[in-house]
Amino acid sequence: MEILRVENLTKVYGKGENEVRALDGVSFSVEKGEFVAIIGPSGSGKSTLLHILGAVDEPSSGKVFMDGKDVFKQNEEQLAIFRRRQVGLVYQFYNLIPVLDVVENITLPVQLDGRKVNRERLREMVALLGLHGREKHLPNQLSGGQQQRVSIGRALMNSPSVVLADEPTGNLDSKNSQEIMELLKKSNKKYNQTLIMITHDENIALQADRIIAIEDGHITRDEVNR
Ligand code: ADP
Ligand code: ADP
Repeated sequence: MEILRVENLTKVYGKGENEVRALDGVSFSVEKGEFVAIIGPSGSGKSTLLHILGAVDEPSSGKVFMDGKDVFKQNEEQLAIFRRRQVGLVYQFYNLIPVLDVVENITLPVQLDGRKVNRERLREMVALLGLHGREKHLPNQLSGGQQQRVSIGRALMNSPSVVLADEPTGNLDSKNSQEIMELLKKSNKKYNQTLIMITHDENIALQADRIIAIEDGHITRDEVNR
């Protein structure tokens, strides 16, 4: 089942001589449960693409369909709901709320959505993340790897259509990086959670089902990883 389709996406920043074509005719589709790695040199448009998929930024032209829905046809209110429910974003530097504890950070999208936290699901999530006993800790009381696990929990809590991760292991040592990869792969394989991840690290890209390479705003390679 197709969960995401991107059609002829372009993104232009600036005007006139300052114009930058960050994306220039990007098209692909992703099946539910796929794990896609996006690779490419710095400045090639990877983050721009991820931000558009998460509706944090909008394209200059082209379309994004998520779960059959034309994302940028939605009004602001619908887009706000889309960002909380349909996508889960994971960043290199975690982006946790410093004054909220582990459980409060993980359940933030559910709370913002005005829904009741499902206690059973929360317990399962804390166990999956390996954060049992850390529930009341603030981000600055956790290691980098633990903070990233919290941010992954926050991304997964609403069971989004797609988890979008931008260099999630970029700030971690190799041991913690591999732990984060095992966690993301577990959510991908065990729960069929679709995952799109930007990485610079070849060893990490090789753990994906599929690798899309981007250069200068174009897809230059899109291959199943065997
Ligand atoms: P990557 O994630 O592959 O490093 P980006 O998507 O961050 O690439 O950037 C692609 C291009 O768009 C780069 O030339 C970058 O300088 C430019 N760019 C990104 N964001 C902005 C912005 N907000 N304003 C202007 N130019 C931008
Ligand atoms: P759908 O309408 O597509 O079934 P739901 O919003 O009912 O989507 O739930 C999708 C997933 O999100 C389910 O797997 C459910 O366990 C989880 N979920 C929904 N609401 C909550 C909540 N309040 N707390 C934790 N998990 C939730």
